[in-house]
Amino acid sequence: MDSLFLLALAASSNALVTSVDVAGATLKIEIRQPVSDHKAQELVEWIASTANNVNLTYGRFPNPAPKIIIIPNTRPSWNDDSAVTFGRVTRSDGETVELFVNLDRPISEFYEDWTATHELSHLMLPLLSQRYRWISEGFASYYQNVLLSRAGHYTPEHAWQRLTEGFVRGRDSRPELTLNQAATGGIRNARMKVYWSGAAIALLADVELRQRSDGEESLDSVLGQLQQCCLPAEKRWSGPELFRRLDSFLETPVFMPLYREYANDTKFPPFTPMLKELGIVTSSAGVILRHDAPLANIREAISTGY
Ligand SMILES: [Zn+2]
Repeated sequence: MDSLFLLALAASSNALVTSVDVAGATLKIEIRQPVSDHKAQELVEWIASTANNVNLTYGRFPNPAPKIIIIPNTRPSWNDDSAVTFGRVTRSDGETVELFVNLDRPISEFYEDWTATHELSHLMLPLLSQRYRWISEGFASYYQNVLLSRAGHYTPEHAWQRLTEGFVRGRDSRPELTLNQAATGGIRNARMKVYWSGAAIALLADVELRQRSDGEESLDSVLGQLQQCCLPAEKRWSGPELFRRLDSFLETPVFMPLYREYANDTKFPPFTPMLKELGIVTSSAGVILRHDAPLANIREAISTGY
């Protein structure tokens, strides 16, 4: 970061504002006070790096002009001393990502915190109606791990370990509910099912696409086509509408068959046989990646990006 950056920071009444270019986008960044100039510079660099994590999906950012607001968390933290304590996407006036940050944490911890990559990954899909939140939360939960691995902030083992643990938590949460029921507003204790069932669907779709096309197609490439046709989207989509659109980019559908099988059923997407084929083995010492597994090359392509 050079001195030109400081000139670009303009103080408004209660925030520092600047913009940063990444492939496909100019990020409009607002940093709420109080924050030192030095910390603000570090945070801007971190946001640019996080946007570049998302760009490891298809080479450009999904929205050409998103707004990112960084809000120092000045309230006493409720047992949460992570670097990014909360994040959310709002879409009432363009797409805005709000990130609540803990300025006491060193900047190195921000790069390993998944929250910002998760929130920015949400911009790869349009806004979905509440009952299909398992798709938006699931895809963001899948990509937060995959992208932090591709960017080198997680080892592949760590990324697969987190995904595996998430799938188990999801399977064990509210097993009597269907995915669409779990995502409906007001359902208690269904958060893990919502997030990790959708992540399991993302993994199943990604592996099927890569396997049948010999690596020519992937969830990355399909989401790139969605961005070209349809993002950023103004309206709210339904799950079937989104999955039909994703299938429209393919000769043989992948997404609607998964939707029909799992969205209105209580069974959790079957991740165990898939992890085995990918060579992801859980041991007492953590996840081990086997190089002789039938789909080891697909696992490596997912977690390295090439
Ligand atoms: Zn989310």
